[in-house]
Amino acid sequence: MELPNSARAVVIGGGVAGCSVAYHLARLGWSEVILVERHELTEGTTWHSAGFVGQLRSTVTQTKMIMYSAGLYPELAELTGMDPGWHGVGGLRLATTPERVEESLRLAGAGETYGLGLSVLSGAEAKEMLPLLDVRDVRAALWLPGDGWLDPALLARALAAGAEKLGVRIFTGTRVTGLDVVGGEVSGVRLALGAEEWSVQADTVVIAAGAASGRVGRLAGVDIPVVPIKHQYVVTEPFDVPSSMPTVRDPDNIVYFREEGGGILVGGYIRTPEIWDTGNPLEEPRTLFAADMPKFQESWESAARRVPALGRTGIVKVVHGPEAFTPDGEFLLGETAVRGLWAAAGFCVHGLAAAGGVGKIMAEWIVDGSPEYDVFGMDLRRFGGHARSSSWARAKALDSYSKYYDIVYPGEERTAARPLRRSPAWVRHAELGAEFGEKSGWERVNWFESNAGPSPEAGGVPGRGGASEARELRETEGVGEVQEVQEGGREAQKAQRGRETRGDREARPAGWAGRVWSPAIRQECLATRDAAGLFDQTSFSKLEISGHQALMRLQRVCAGQLDRPPGSIVYTQLLNERGGIEADLTVTRLAEDRFRLVTGTAFGVHDAAWLRGHGLDVRDVTSAHACYCLWGPRALDILGTLSDDDLTFGYMRAREISVGNVPVLAQRVTFVGEFGWELYCPSEYGLTLWDALMEAGTPYGMRPAGYRAIDSMRLEKGYRVWGMDITPETTPVEAGLGFAVAKDKDFLGRSALEAAARSLACLVLDDPRQVCLAGEPVRLGGAPASRVTSGGYGHRVERSIAYAYLPAGTAPGDRVEVGVTGTWVGATVVAEPLYDPASDRIRHLPA
Ligand SMILES: Cc1cc2nc3c(=O)[nH]c(=O)nc-3n(C[C@H](O)[C@H](O)[C@H](O)COP(=O)(O)OP(=O)(O)OC[C@H]3O[C@@H](n4cnc5c(N)ncnc54)[C@H](O)[C@@H]3O)c2cc1C
Repeated sequence: MELPNSARAVVIGGGVAGCSVAYHLARLGWSEVILVERHELTEGTTWHSAGFVGQLRSTVTQTKMIMYSAGLYPELAELTGMDPGWHGVGGLRLATTPERVEESLRLAGAGETYGLGLSVLSGAEAKEMLPLLDVRDVRAALWLPGDGWLDPALLARALAAGAEKLGVRIFTGTRVTGLDVVGGEVSGVRLALGAEEWSVQADTVVIAAGAASGRVGRLAGVDIPVVPIKHQYVVTEPFDVPSSMPTVRDPDNIVYFREEGGGILVGGYIRTPEIWDTGNPLEEPRTLFAADMPKFQESWESAARRVPALGRTGIVKVVHGPEAFTPDGEFLLGETAVRGLWAAAGFCVHGLAAAGGVGKIMAEWIVDGSPEYDVFGMDLRRFGGHARSSSWARAKALDSYSKYYDIVYPGEERTAARPLRRSPAWVRHAELGAEFGEKSGWERVNWFESNAGPSPEAGGVPGRGGASEARELRETEGVGEVQEVQEGGREAQKAQRGRETRGDREARPAGWAGRVWSPAIRQECLATRDAAGLFDQTSFSKLEISGHQALMRLQRVCAGQLDRPPGSIVYTQLLNERGGIEADLTVTRLAEDRFRLVTGTAFGVHDAAWLRGHGLDVRDVTSAHACYCLWGPRALDILGTLSDDDLTFGYMRAREISVGNVPVLAQRVTFVGEFGWELYCPSEYGLTLWDALMEAGTPYGMRPAGYRAIDSMRLEKGYRVWGMDITPETTPVEAGLGFAVAKDKDFLGRSALEAAARSLACLVLDDPRQVCLAGEPVRLGGAPASRVTSGGYGHRVERSIAYAYLPAGTAPGDRVEVGVTGTWVGATVVAEPLYDPASDRIRHLPA
């Protein structure tokens, strides 16, 4: 078969991912698709995979993707004429600690809402299913009848056969040596077939090169942060294990196993993983590493405790191979910074299970512009510029691997490769005992532990002395020793926990919601309600668009009306063709032909790419500006002491003002439902501005405050969060954002906005100590209806609040049940927002 000179799409890599992408592109009707593979098909990582297909994952989208795979694989024999050896034996997932049981119940509850077949068993019931198991320590087991396993190489070949049937041409022994890029767009690939060279023109190229994807990406100057890590499993001699044996995951012992040739295949994760240190991954076909039994010892012993028969059985095979890991353990999918150049890589030991879903998502994304599922968590644009640092990617990936089976508690922070991006005021936050979280590399304050003391109304002093305490610390300890100061803050926090009052303990939410929590969050909310809170939101992503066509082009992609006078701020969404929300942001008209867009910390790269993809010239100015939000009824008094400018300009207006000696753009907006401003200044003034605001605000009872307080207050106001309450799968109409949609202009996605069959509803739980964290199932009339998009405790309204999409027609007063970790808690649908429904506190100047 002759290589063509041009193709509609070139897929690079003949592993399971590349074969699935090619198959799904063809299924969506694309012709002239070619796949190129440097060795024979599957000879990278796929051929030696253990073949497990386990559907239950910690994110909804990953689970949906694997559910799709598990539906597709048994049908492949019929669809493609090649049988991938599907064993639909079902799967058990064991829980041996109360925390793991709680996790299982949460996952089971979430699974119910998207139709994942599963049930919760006792240890004895699990043993009945698989008598080989020792279940003495098993407290519960999840049973997933749709799980199974198959032959990985046959799976890739079946997908390849299906692709070929639909017209895809596959070229093995064909190595990609170059990627041509013209004006930021991919235009073709250069190939080597032995000594022969060839080039193929194409404006769609998909990198599915497994552990070599980073290297292939660099041919076009793009960063695909995959880190090849070694992973190992063993196979025992046969001992009459029935082929009907279900697969087993034992996450507390970080092992998994299944039947193989009458024996058992045992795989395990280890706490001390090793990177495959090579400049040219997958250069050789079928790369395997020497067996490392000392490293596998712990996994083997754990497995032998679970299946005692293993102690009497010999190992006949060890497979130790490379797998592509990523900095956060999530896949890397989507379009790269080069237009038309896509990636599907970094499958972190579940690429086989996910491959069907990966092919579906990638093909929909390429062909239709956006996939059916919300894929932001896997979108390779989620990282910042630091994604090009291999030391950062390696540190993060090793951390992800070593914690692979650990319970992921919402709000719990990872520590690898931190701190990285810091606000100019970071040193002050550290001095004040900030509990930091990380987002897109930014260190952000979750709360100030020093606020956990008595409330201001009880005579407490903000931030254990606020600015004066901060200054005192600076004078005695020196700002250079920030690490030490931060450590000191942590110590203080531990001590503070020890000092928690009875009231604090009673206020701590039950279950998981109370794990990463502090009484400081409440104090910060109350201070913002009664006086003011000062929030560092420097990590906001800030994008600028200018030029004489800026307004016209923005009008086309924004659902809101932007044709307003300079100084106006508009809250708006960017929609896809289906009317789904691709971005949620504010747009400030700085001048006739200049606009600044402010979006979430993690969303800047994504939103900028969406805008560029729709013809806008976007400048990312995130690093140029610090941003502090001063919100609360005393905000006007506080800023008044620092500024001679008129501060009485209206809501959703922006003005250039001076604050002390600092030039500031003040935006009258809020995300907490209190009067005040987002104050932007050039970064180099940031520390000075923070100090000035702290000094001015402290006498008024202002407290420095963090993101957890913001999240509590925004729930009370019903402000939506993109990626949770609103996603590419939801429209503004369903989300209750119809007020932000312009009626008097056309824009992308408008024709898809129809009357909705469901709408986002606010729920108040009967038991205020039961607090949702997102993902909890919701039942209406006893039947599964939905799941919580986001939830939390509202300290100003003293209610446990949750949001969920419910059928249209559901009205305030209707009753539902919410499954909070296995317990069904009654809840009432209420009118929203719960706090200040007329928005008097926002729109009018404080009395
Ligand atoms: C020991 C082990 C056990 C595993 N067990 C499981 C499991 O039970 N279940 C599960 O779901 N997952 C499992 N995995 C993970 C799974 O095998 C991988 O996620 C999956 O195979 C990755 O497929 P891929 O197509 O991305 O990569 P690969 O299979 O590596 O395919 C990439 C292809 O790209 C080709 N390529 C690279 N560079 C070029 C170039 N320049 N030009 C042309 N071609 C190029 C390579 O030759 C290779 O064939 C396991 C992994 C390991 C290591």
